Amino acid sequence: MPEYQRPLTVAEYEQNFAQIKPDMSATMAYNESARCLFCYDAPCQQACPTGIDIALFIKQIHTDNLQGSARTIYNSNYFANICGKVCPTEVLCEGACVHNHSQNKPIEIGRLQSYASQHAISENIALYAVPKEKNKGKVAVIGAGPAGIAAACELSKAGVEVHIFESKSSPSGLALYGVAPYKITNQEILEEVAYLQAQFGFSIHYNQPISSKEQLAKLEADFDGIFLGIGLGATNPVLANTQNWANVWGATEFIEQLKTDFQKVVIGKNVVIVGGGNTAMDAASETARMGAASVKLVYRKSKEEMSAYEFEYDLAKQVGVQGIFGLAPAQLLGDNSLKGVSFTNEKGETVEIGCDMVVLATGQQKQTQFLSQIDGLTLNKQGKIVVNEQFQTTNPRYFAGGDAVNGGAEVVNACAEAKKAAQAMIKTLFS
Ligand SMILES: Cc1cc2nc3c(=O)[nH]c(=O)nc-3n(C[C@H](O)[C@H](O)[C@H](O)COP(=O)(O)OP(=O)(O)OC[C@H]3O[C@@H](n4cnc5c(N)ncnc54)[C@H](O)[C@@H]3O)c2cc1C
Ligand code: SF4
Repeated sequence: MPEYQRPLTVAEYEQNFAQIKPDMSATMAYNESARCLFCYDAPCQQACPTGIDIALFIKQIHTDNLQGSARTIYNSNYFANICGKVCPTEVLCEGACVHNHSQNKPIEIGRLQSYASQHAISENIALYAVPKEKNKGKVAVIGAGPAGIAAACELSKAGVEVHIFESKSSPSGLALYGVAPYKITNQEILEEVAYLQAQFGFSIHYNQPISSKEQLAKLEADFDGIFLGIGLGATNPVLANTQNWANVWGATEFIEQLKTDFQKVVIGKNVVIVGGGNTAMDAASETARMGAASVKLVYRKSKEEMSAYEFEYDLAKQVGVQGIFGLAPAQLLGDNSLKGVSFTNEKGETVEIGCDMVVLATGQQKQTQFLSQIDGLTLNKQGKIVVNEQFQTTNPRYFAGGDAVNGGAEVVNACAEAKKAAQAMIKTLFS
């Protein structure tokens, strides 16, 4: 098992969480772009949820037209640099690249995308002529995650005045508080959002949770339409009384603490991660990189049935995480302090695994209580907001996109859905 020491300084933390897709130099970008075949009807573009014209932006990099390249990307996806780094490119654009058929390495589309978009961000290039006077109408956005910000960009570009209400003190939602630190740094995420905000001119009101019917009524009175980009809620509690134990975490809560202040996080020596999705893989890799001596990832079904991408499981294994399958969690063990977890196997037998830290990566709850306060809004059986093809909810003044609608997908899906919703809002509310 590769040894990671507990990082004590920022430099040690950055070393343990070194970027898995480091930035390309100009020479690397030139050489990599030269390998692209600029395919007709490119499969990489078809595999991208935001439909970026990938062949075009790669050609523009190759001909040293970085501004044009960045514009091509931003035309389809406002989280251009962020998605270049955090998208599961292995199963999207790069997974579809024709080079895979000839046993060649696929084009590193994600890194090229970040290379071009970072140019626009660092040079603060205004790619769009955004109306300074926003006189087309007013929209309130609830939630400054990828969905809320993408909707705000699209609406502002069309001259709509946008105010985002965000319960936390920073923008970007789970892109900032959830995505693994070895994929992108917090600083880069905040820089891209600041770039977008300066260019499009929308307002974000931080520490402003919208939670009551009165607040919703005020938004309805003050704005022409409302976009819901609220994402999901806290981790599903699968074991009883978890809140009474020290060192028993929900995965999203643990990762948020890690990404907010890694020095405060207490990491056990022997860690058990419960779950088989991508968040479980992240939590496993992260506790290993924070210096845990042993990390066991325990999933109730078989390895093949895990919903996590294979490359995410590989990443966890590379840092020494051990997968254990066919064990369903039953209860926490210990008196005053955590001693382990008992599981039930397929034969109904009890199996105990000793540990001094547990992370439950058992999915996130839906925000049904908050959503039930919106008149006429329909949720499906799983608690997802019901929308039509235009991402309009069953209350015609509310539109929605991202995790609250799709139940939890990727940053790129939230951006794609929110852009469509914003376009529909412009059409139905303001024309
Ligand atoms: C641990 C983890 C790792 C992930 N890793 C990746 C990855 O590597 N790559 C990838 O593409 N995707 C990843 N995802 C998924 C991705 O982060 C989400 O799909 C995406 O952020 C969803 O965007 P969203 O805007 O719909 O919701 P969110 O990102 O959840 O944003 C919602 C925002 O709304 C705010 N909010 C909620 N309720 C209210 C309210 N009532 N009032 C005001 N504000 C409110 C929240 O504070 C938040 O800022 C990961 C998710 C998790 C949990
Ligand atoms: S499929 Fe691969 S080679 Fe073809 S355009 Fe896309 S990145 Fe280039």
